[in-house]
Amino acid sequence: MGKILFINPGSEGHINPTIEVCKSLVDQGEEVVYYLSDIYESKLANTGVEIRSLPIDSVVESFTAYGNNNVLDVINGVLNTAHVMLPRILNDIKHEHFDYVIYDSMFGCGYLIAQKLNIPAISSVTTFAKTKPLFDNFITSIENQLDDSEVARSNQIFQSLKTDIETTYQVQIPSRHEIMNNPGDLNISYIMQGFQHDVEQFNAQEFVFAGPSVRTPQPTEFMNKINTSRPVIYISLGTVFNENISFFNRCFAALKDLDVTVVVSIGTTNNLANFDDIPSNFIVESYVPQIELLQYTDLFITHAGMNSTNEAMMMDVPLLAFPQSADQPVVSHQIEQLGIGKKLDSATVTTTELKTTVTEMLTNLDYYKANIAKIKQLQSATKPGYQVAVEAILNFKKQYVH
Ligand code: UDP
Repeated sequence: MGKILFINPGSEGHINPTIEVCKSLVDQGEEVVYYLSDIYESKLANTGVEIRSLPIDSVVESFTAYGNNNVLDVINGVLNTAHVMLPRILNDIKHEHFDYVIYDSMFGCGYLIAQKLNIPAISSVTTFAKTKPLFDNFITSIENQLDDSEVARSNQIFQSLKTDIETTYQVQIPSRHEIMNNPGDLNISYIMQGFQHDVEQFNAQEFVFAGPSVRTPQPTEFMNKINTSRPVIYISLGTVFNENISFFNRCFAALKDLDVTVVVSIGTTNNLANFDDIPSNFIVESYVPQIELLQYTDLFITHAGMNSTNEAMMMDVPLLAFPQSADQPVVSHQIEQLGIGKKLDSATVTTTELKTTVTEMLTNLDYYKANIAKIKQLQSATKPGYQVAVEAILNFKKQYVH
């Protein structure tokens, strides 16, 4: 049995793929101590892990301290969270021994914590994986798009945070890559290799593309209220960047006269009172059992979050992407490139364009599904992502933990 320190203070999309991984690790006899933000504790109920919560308010406050106007500011925010994460976790565990650490690739300063503990490290990657050269190119392209003064300001903040954190906690921060991607000795991505861009640049010893870490759920009562005798369209902008009420209203107007059932997840922070009247062929909820619903969905109108995209591919559902933020524009680009769906702009799309595109896609579902099948063929046909991930983790343990 090994004792694992798991660090993952990010949002739902960062946690969901790790749930089945944790259950399976616990079933195999591993002991897992899992740090996550207090508001998500219930997500890990019944997994058998020991839950330790981190204060979401302090994490968010330090993360947003430099704004999010550009990626450089976001990286400064992530680095700044070290002031919350490192003292809290290192102090908490100072009398405990862990055999290895698994951490989210974006949030939680896992790279720095692994360095302090000097134990083998695995990175849990819920977005596109990045090598250092790929990431450095990306940063250069961002810098080229910004004013010199803005780049200089962000660089100066990065340097001053870096010096402060290196001195305070006695760690090394080689570059932005280690802050934004937290590379591990092993990196496990929940993306299928056929969906990852530049996949040939990843060394198979260090990167495992496990694929969607999702178990087909037990049926709930939810589907009883959905009319599945006609095409089902599911609309969601995910759990974070979902406050685009005008977009939801345009979906109402565009799809109200089609002979389809439309299910909409508006998110837990939007108030239905601020929406237009709900058309009779729509069902609107603040949260739905997405994976269960996708099994009955013909077309998914999505923000192209990585988990949603993965889950849709797993259930063979073509995607109409309306990226809102974060990695969603890149995911949408890949959706269109690989012919598994289309992408449009939620700021400018008209009801006519939306209706025409949805009608076209419903007529050509087989085309998009055939392209999903091509991506899935490259993946292990028999094993779900969590099983591939756990096999890789236990092999890693054999190799690195003595
Ligand atoms: N989700 C869900 N029900 C909803 C909305 C979202 O179960 O009504 C889940 C979805 O299945 C996915 C996650 O929340 O696993 C959203 O992650 P994603 O990466 O797609 O987007 P994010 O919310 O991080 O923007």
